[in-house]
Amino acid sequence: MEQGPAGKGALAPTEEVGRSRWTWRRGPVDGPAVVFDLDGVLSNAAARQHFIKAPRPDWESFFSASADDPLVDEVAALLGLLAPALAVVLLTARPARTGPLTISWLARHDLRWDLLVTRQDGDYRPARHFKQEALRDIRSRRLDLKLGFEDDLRNVEMFRSEGVPCLYIHSGYYD
Ligand SMILES: [Mg+2]
Repeated sequence: MEQGPAGKGALAPTEEVGRSRWTWRRGPVDGPAVVFDLDGVLSNAAARQHFIKAPRPDWESFFSASADDPLVDEVAALLGLLAPALAVVLLTARPARTGPLTISWLARHDLRWDLLVTRQDGDYRPARHFKQEALRDIRSRRLDLKLGFEDDLRNVEMFRSEGVPCLYIHSGYYD
């Protein structure tokens, strides 16, 4: 395990697991957990969707603009109300290079989390394939995923096919 950039002072431990990068807020945890997506679930990415419209999607601008995303207030409130004993996993298809930006955003909005899972830079698989692999890795580390929150129905279906209940949050990005 290595010390990686965490933003806001503290150095969060990171590790490479399969084709994902894991950042632990305070070190590894296990036990019952919930898993949240970021874009369209906790972060409101509506104002930057135009960056990834065809014919020339600009992914760098799309990801860097995430620093200014507003919170999805209702989901943030729900997260804050969950039992403190639950581990909070953030599973996002954002690339690993967005880790420091993402961790700063989480700190700015005072959101609780224990593990942030991003995908390795250069992994362009459909998000549901990345997330399916990551989900299996997470469960193999004794994190018992009780419930997921997703705004992409393809990911919702993938969660359910893996036996993890998943609540659909409507973002409107995937209509
Ligand atoms: Mg999403």
